[in-house]
Amino acid sequence: MPVYRNVMESLVEERVDKILHTLDCCQCDQCRNDIVAYALNHLPTKYVVTQQGEAYSKIYMLSVQHDADILAALTAGVNLVKEHPRHAK
Ligand SMILES: [Zn+2]
Repeated sequence: MPVYRNVMESLVEERVDKILHTLDCCQCDQCRNDIVAYALNHLPTKYVVTQQGEAYSKIYMLSVQHDADILAALTAGVNLVKEHPRHAK
């Protein structure tokens, strides 16, 4: 029984932790989740069958264009969250 998942989620998850501290952004769960959700809403979905998902994700990781798109979406998400944080003070 095939199961599908969006590998873009994995790529964004891998990227977000690497850039949060470089952008002087809050790293609490609320802010991180908001940034990931924002980025995913602005990126194309890339569904694969899970058995081969890891191989596909490596192919996508090698794609410079995807990487640039992911970084741009995450950076936009960070800027939005920095202006309108939803975490408890
Ligand atoms: Zn926060």
